Formats: sequence, C-alpha cells, structure tokens
Amino acid sequence: MNRDVILTGIRSNDEPTIGNYLGAFLPMVELQQKFAGEYQVNMFVPDLHSFTTPIDHAQLYANTIKNLKYFIAAGLAIENEDTFIYRQSFIPAHSELTWILDCFTYMGEMQRMTQFKEKTLQSSSSGTAENSVSVGLFNYPVLMAADILLYNAKWVPVGDDQKQHIEIARDLGLRLNNKFGEELFIVPEEWKKQLAFAKRDNGVRIRSLVNPEKKMSKSIADPRGTILLSDDPAVAAKKVMGATTDSVGSINFDWDTQPGISNLLQMLALMSGQAQEDINRAWTGNERYGDLKKAVAEATEAFLADFQSRYQSVDESALLAKLEASEAAMNEVASSTLLRVQKAVGLRA
Ligand code: ATP
Ligand code: MG
Repeated sequence: MNRDVILTGIRSNDEPTIGNYLGAFLPMVELQQKFAGEYQVNMFVPDLHSFTTPIDHAQLYANTIKNLKYFIAAGLAIENEDTFIYRQSFIPAHSELTWILDCFTYMGEMQRMTQFKEKTLQSSSSGTAENSVSVGLFNYPVLMAADILLYNAKWVPVGDDQKQHIEIARDLGLRLNNKFGEELFIVPEEWKKQLAFAKRDNGVRIRSLVNPEKKMSKSIADPRGTILLSDDPAVAAKKVMGATTDSVGSINFDWDTQPGISNLLQMLALMSGQAQEDINRAWTGNERYGDLKKAVAEATEAFLADFQSRYQSVDESALLAKLEASEAAMNEVASSTLLRVQKAVGLRA
C-alpha cells in the first residue's frame, strides 16, 4: 500500500446536515470517483469525537452505523478495494497516539482554535458555565491530528471550518519530525493545496439559513436554520423559503455584504453540480429573491427525495463485512505508525 491516502470522517453524534453532505461527503465521493485506483481512500467515523459536547449515548452506536450508510448513499463505492471504511474507536492506536501528541501540543495552540472558541461561547451563552466545557472539546484537534497522521494521509477533504485543524495536524507532524527525524510522519498537505486537490478555490461552508453569519451545524440547536439529511423534503423546502436574506434588493455573490444570498447561491451550485461562476452569472443583479429561494427549495427537495431513497436501499450486511475487513487492515497500518512513534519517543527499544 504505497498509494497516497485521501482521508475524511464525519462525527456520528447527530444527524448529518446538508452542510456536512456538501462540505464533506460530496467532495470525498467526487475524489473517489475521479481517482479510482490511484489513491487509497479512508472514510471513517470518528466516534471518539462524538461526545466532546454532550450527546444521547444510547443513540451513539446506532447513529454510527447510520452515518456509514449515509456515506454509501452519497455514492461511496465500498466494493472498491482501495477504499477502507472504519470506526475510530475500533482502532486503539488513535487514543494512544493522541496522548503522545498531547504532550507536544501547546495550550496556546489549542486556545486559538475557532471551533473551540465558538462552541465554548455557545455553551456559555446557553447558560452553561464555561468550566463545564470538556477537556475533550479543547484537545480534539489533537485526536484529529492522530486520525490523519496514523495513516500517512496527505489529502484531507473537509469543510472550511476544519482548516485550522488540518494546519495543526501538519504542525504537529512537522514538529515531531524535526525532533525525532524526518521519517516519522508523512504530513497532510497545506490548506491551499488541499483546496486545489479538491478543485475548489474556497472551502465550502454552508451557513445557517436563519443566521447566515454562522455555519450550519449539527450540534448547535437551530432547527429552522439547519437542513438534515433525514428532513422531510417538503419541510426542508419550506426552511429554504424562510431563509434570512438582506435588504440590499439585488442578488450578488458576496459573503461579506450578502451572506444569506451567497449561501443560497452556493447551495444551488453544489446541489445542481454546476460551477459557482455559472450560477452567479445567471442570478447576479436579479431583484427577485423569491425566485432564487424557489430554485434552491426545489433543488433541495429533489436532492433529499433522491438521497433518502438511495439510503433506504443500502445493503447493511455488505457494509458490516466491509467494516470488519477494513478495521483489520487499518489496525495494522495504525499500529505500525504507533510503534514507530513509540520507538522515537523512547517507549520501545
Ligand atoms: P458540529 O457543529 O457538531 O461540529 P459539524 O456539522 O461540524 O458538527 P462534523 O462531524 O464536525 O459536523 O464535521 C464533519 C464534516 O462536515 C467536516 O469535514 C466539516 O468540515 C464538514 N462541515 C460541517 N459543517 C459544515 C458546513 N456548514 N459547511 C460545509 N462543511 C461542513
Ligand atoms: Mg464540526
């Protein structure tokens, strides 16, 4: 297995949103199709990341399987032998490498992470004292670095909200390489190259329909602003029709001045598979916001109806067999990276 690795994951704590689909599932599936046979594809469920914020633990296991079925419904070809599908917690090296990396990570680095700041703010504004934010939320970027470094992954197609975390994974890998020798880790490529690899100029960040200053998120309670992959298609269309826009009065793709409108234009481009420029050209200057909402609502409704019927027909027993085989293979890769690190830091002879 000397092929470059493309790796992505999505947490199984809640129902995925259309933001997860457009920012993570879709780019991964497109890359798999484009590079079939040329790269190794690692698609995993970071189940250890699930309870950095409080969740219903009784649902976690079932949600993990459900999330994997979503990957498949999104078009991931599991019969492909270069594709591995696995659960993070089934591979103990993730936890072990995280501890080692933790000891080379600086408090200041973690404190700068915007995801941490946003989520900390969210729980304090909802009445929770700041000191009830978990240490897990604080250092999950280190676990994410382990997720990437264990498999020598160069390419990590994720949404724009994960940019800093990719950079931290890279920094940590390089830091240990400097200290212990260049051969220790293969580090992920820098963000600009990641975007070029995924053929994007900008990271995808779908915004909340209600509050377009914020990203659409599955763990932040925002039912009218969030479209879940499991939403009734007609209900989802209504959410789009109710999207917050602005009072500019004419359509422009400009995230600073018209984030709500730009969000709709981005959703339309990605869901219809058309280039953003073409969509923008077709709509710029148009004064009828209602027409744009209607176009996005229709695209969303059609997309969800189709996606949900594909989800229903996913073969669960094929998935379970694939999981078992992938987890065995990935345990070997991860254990061998871990052993290399254990030797480097003096834990093994
Ligand atoms: P949470 O808000 O609880 O962190 P999430 O929606 O960010 O949940 P994750 O499982 O953390 O979900 O992220 C899974 C993938 O989805 C990541 O690659 C992330 O970049 C991407 N993603 C998440 N939200 C969006 C969004 N609004 N737009 C585009 N991509 C997104
Ligand atoms: Mg997230």
